[in-house]
Amino acid sequence: MARIISGTEISRTIRAEVAAEVALLRGEGTVPGLAVVLVGADPASEVYVRMKAKACREAGMQDRTLKLPAEVTADELFGVIDGLNADPGIHGILLQLPLPAHLNPKPFLERIHPAKDVDGFHPLNVGRAFIGDPRGFVPATPAGIMEILRREAIPTHGRHAVIVGRSLIVSKPLMSLLMAPGPNAGVTLVHRHTPDIAPHTRMADILVVAVGKPGLITADMVKPGATVIDVGTTRVADEADPRGYRIVGDVDFDAVSEVAGAITPVPGGVGPMTITMLLRNTVDAAKRAHTRERRGGARRSTRR
Ligand code: NAP
Repeated sequence: MARIISGTEISRTIRAEVAAEVALLRGEGTVPGLAVVLVGADPASEVYVRMKAKACREAGMQDRTLKLPAEVTADELFGVIDGLNADPGIHGILLQLPLPAHLNPKPFLERIHPAKDVDGFHPLNVGRAFIGDPRGFVPATPAGIMEILRREAIPTHGRHAVIVGRSLIVSKPLMSLLMAPGPNAGVTLVHRHTPDIAPHTRMADILVVAVGKPGLITADMVKPGATVIDVGTTRVADEADPRGYRIVGDVDFDAVSEVAGAITPVPGGVGPMTITMLLRNTVDAAKRAHTRERRGGARRSTRR
């Protein structure tokens, strides 16, 4: 029977570490600030935005949620992002996706200043993450998966990791993090156009699934003893739940738990880690801004 990895508990530990760093920064006059821009009224996005704001406040950080109407124009949205880029009290900017259909997210994500791009979606940060440049920001979900592996002491060195899915938000950055010097895993990535993913998934010491298709991974697709990280989150109707739905992953949890060595549940696995690593990135952004400010101040005072 697999060990169940609690992302909730790992998150609690990291959030305590983050809160301690926030307290230190506040003592030196910098309050880390995260701005979340929400366009329209997508119910799932509203839930995520509320969760992010609450997590910020609990860590002692400043949160600012900017709600814009679905019919906002591109110029207005660029204006909001420019205002946040210039605001010294805001260290991280997050544009909640998806945007309404008339707005292509790409130019807006590129408008966010790379130093405040705590989601790690700006091409400069994507490139930095890929080449292992620590000045970049790694997207929160793959960063959270690496923390799960590290804190659960799951060996990666020389092991075979198989990732299902090829998104820029999860799978591609995770691929480069796992194969980087340090973790040193060998990585196979399979996706929608791979004719049969099972022969690949069965070879995985670490299997990460980020697709959004409940039941995609069944017990016969998992090597005995493997670590299974289920990123998928899909709402399925459930009359027994007061919300009328429940969240499920991509992995047939009950059956795969009988085969795997360790497994993340949904909910309570990768999900809480994502918000936690967003806070982590925002505190890192605030620390860097704080250091720049101090250096700038020191230079100004030596010039006088
Ligand atoms: P995405 O951009 O939709 O990517 C899904 C990937 O799966 C795509 O590359 C897609 O291929 C591929 N795919 C689709 N059907 C497949 C199949 N039958 N076999 C293999 N690959 C298949 O989604 P994402 O942003 O990576 O998210 C994936 C899932 O994780 C979603 O359920 C999302 O809600 C969840 N998620 C959870 C968290 C969290 O914090 N827990 C964070 C992010 C995402 P194509 O490229 O050809 O479309």
